Amino acid sequence: MSTVRYAAPGRVNLIGEHTDYNLGFALPIGLPQRTVVTFTPDDSDAITASSDRADGSVRIGLDTAPRDVTGWAAYVAGVVWALRDVGHQVPGGTMSITSDVEVGSGLSSSAALTCAVLGALKTATETATATATGSRLDRVEAARIAQRAENEYVGAPTGLLDQLSALFAEPDTALLIDFRDITVRPVPFDPDAAGVTLVLIDSRVRHSHAGGEYADRRASCERAAAAMGAATLRDVQDRGLAALSAVTDPVDLRRARHVLTENQRVLDFAAALKDSDYSTAGGIMTASHESMRDDFNITVPQVDLIAETAVRAGALGARMTGGGFGGVVIALVPLDRVESLSATVRGASADAGYDEPTIRRTHSAAGATAL
Ligand code: ADP
Ligand code: MG
Repeated sequence: MSTVRYAAPGRVNLIGEHTDYNLGFALPIGLPQRTVVTFTPDDSDAITASSDRADGSVRIGLDTAPRDVTGWAAYVAGVVWALRDVGHQVPGGTMSITSDVEVGSGLSSSAALTCAVLGALKTATETATATATGSRLDRVEAARIAQRAENEYVGAPTGLLDQLSALFAEPDTALLIDFRDITVRPVPFDPDAAGVTLVLIDSRVRHSHAGGEYADRRASCERAAAAMGAATLRDVQDRGLAALSAVTDPVDLRRARHVLTENQRVLDFAAALKDSDYSTAGGIMTASHESMRDDFNITVPQVDLIAETAVRAGALGARMTGGGFGGVVIALVPLDRVESLSATVRGASADAGYDEPTIRRTHSAAGATAL
């Protein structure tokens, strides 16, 4: 049986934060960094997996069940389990994983891993069975299986954003995701052609309390929706901000206001991208940051300083991306200002006594694919 190789990228969300579980909109891109899985199937009843990120190899029985395997290999075992749970065949074999997606900095190394593993296992079964068995996966279904691997096997809460991004990404394209009906629409995203570039500024602050804060925000959004007589905040999106007058709790009101305004910002941002209007897009990013800071309260002083300094140093706009409490700030920056902006942001962080942020340019790249 022949060896297959399959790759899946990390991702960054351009705009649309904490909108997924409110059935709203988000707009991620795939990154050039990716995880590559090399898989050689055999007739055994286990997969032996190794990663260049970890010592040794881990044996995963094909009959693995949630929590059998822990640590990094749980993500691999989770895909095996989730695939088999919905009736797909999974062969035994030897799997080796290499990756340049940074782990734990919010670029979704976990979805890059699960989606690459899933693609490799599916490709191996499809090439092994002479005829198509009718078990080809569509990408939304694949995303759900990868999500179950994380949610139910690993025990990590994650929406579908990361997996959809890894699976649907395309070069020079952002993905407009509607979480109500799980649709993904491509939107042109090629700022470099307009003399602008996307810059990732990693604050190197890692979110330690994110779990509780996340649950707290979710509960606020659910209460606010209920106060407006709706099942989800998406259901009141068309009523405008006036609908919020029914929310009496001032904190819940601010949380809901972030979600409703953020959904509109995603749509406005996508419209600006269609016109290659990066200056309007930048302004919307900055407004998103302010909403996360003032209404959703998920930023921290380090990322506020980075975002504000970037805009002062000539970015068209800047915002924290990801769940919050640290992580990465993204900025749209005219090409001729990237160097001076980087120096200014580093200087401001140093003056405030913060860790030096790591700064790099990036662009949107291809999604999960066989190599
Ligand atoms: P991220 O934001 O990067 O997705 P997560 O905490 O969701 O952060 O997932 C990171 C975890 O995924 C790592 O701690 C590790 O267990 C696993 N992981 C991701 N990529 C790899 C890899 N290439 N090799 C081994 N494990 C990986
Ligand atoms: Mg993850």
